[in-house]
Amino acid sequence: MKLYNTLTRKKEEFKPINKGVVNMYVCGPTVYNFFHIGNARPFIIFDTLRRYLEYKGYEVNYVQNFTDIDDKIINKAREENTTSKAISDRYIKEYFIDAKGLGIKEASVHPRVSECIEDIIDMVKTLEEKGFAYNVDGNVYYRVRAFKDYGKLSKKSIEDLESGARVEVSDEKEDPLDFALWKRQKEEDEVSFDSPWGKGRPGWHIECSAMSRKYLGETIDIHGGGEDLIFPHHENEIAQSEGCNSKAFCNYFIHNGYININNEKMSKSKGNFFMVRDISKDFDLEVVRIFMLAAHYKTPINFSFDILKQNEKALERLYNTKYSLLDKIENNKNQNITEEEDKFIKSLNKYKLQFEEAMEDDINTANALGAIFELIKEINSNTDENSSVEFLKGLYDLYMMLCSVLGLCLKEREEELLEEDILKLIEERNQARKNKDFALADKIRDDLKEKNIVLEDTRSGVKWHREN
Ligand SMILES: [Zn+2]
Repeated sequence: MKLYNTLTRKKEEFKPINKGVVNMYVCGPTVYNFFHIGNARPFIIFDTLRRYLEYKGYEVNYVQNFTDIDDKIINKAREENTTSKAISDRYIKEYFIDAKGLGIKEASVHPRVSECIEDIIDMVKTLEEKGFAYNVDGNVYYRVRAFKDYGKLSKKSIEDLESGARVEVSDEKEDPLDFALWKRQKEEDEVSFDSPWGKGRPGWHIECSAMSRKYLGETIDIHGGGEDLIFPHHENEIAQSEGCNSKAFCNYFIHNGYININNEKMSKSKGNFFMVRDISKDFDLEVVRIFMLAAHYKTPINFSFDILKQNEKALERLYNTKYSLLDKIENNKNQNITEEEDKFIKSLNKYKLQFEEAMEDDINTANALGAIFELIKEINSNTDENSSVEFLKGLYDLYMMLCSVLGLCLKEREEELLEEDILKLIEERNQARKNKDFALADKIRDDLKEKNIVLEDTRSGVKWHREN
């Protein structure tokens, strides 16, 4: 498999350090709010890469962190007169709701900064001992010039950075290029932890270095994130990890491109800023996933509600194919596959190869999706009520195998009950209770519960509601 490596600016053959295992780290959200459509892109892309690596038989250790210690969280806690923990707990819960809607699997580990403080302190201590860090009254900084490879990811030289750096008069740093590893506590109500440098909290960059070492080891295979993280975040992660461990930090850095909104850069001030949660009010979030996968992950993409509407139709085609196969599997009379069907199904292997070839070429999900849509055409024009069940099952397995690599079409069919049907069943249950047939009454209630209809017996009669 070839992956575009930001470190070398080349597509390279992917070779994991340990045969059969991939250790992969993806920068996660800062949990002070719902996540926006720009955050969703890397989550979806790297979830898809993970699914493909698993499809290829690798065991993937996938770590995505939650930044739960941050100025934005502290500020929000002040606004709401609550604790940082209450804010981050709330938005971690909300993250999982939206991620599930987008078809993003849970990571192997979702570490939180607040739970990795000892690991962070250990790392900062080592950096200080090795001369890569220095303490100024409880603020610890990374000495950028001490790390000779600084700039190797972003291809920025120290000279470039120097001319662009803002020099603040009151700066206590040795050099404007240096960045914070540990920040001393400023206000009484700020979350803080005891450390060898006094009470304080970690800077942003150090958490990813510490967490990836803790869960994946000193050298990892893949590090993912949006291209806005190349500098300074990932550049600083390299400086911290390699300075501390004296080993390569990561072999393949992979970055996805930007998202524009209606052809403009997304910004809160322009009012074109969309939370995934907002979009979920009008669209099935799987539509967002198919929209993201319809372009190569490195190309900038343009988001608009019109484009989502087009993708809604694509998603409908995916599900229609699945349901139509399932219906035929249930209803068709012929059981055993014919010679002709067998020959045909073997010929469809070319779509599987086409799909894999696309994914092997730097995760070309657009072409992989194309292979699935060609397969759909074949399925639609070669199946009918005379197709054998064995044949249909073979098609279904092939189709669903490819869809699931992209994390698409995985939801079960919900046969939603209409209100009149529900009322009829409630009436039947009332009748059963009058007849003292409690077994039947309970069965009706339990059957409804399975379909997410909850009954409630109140003084003014039976009430019902749908539950998600
Ligand atoms: Zn990170």
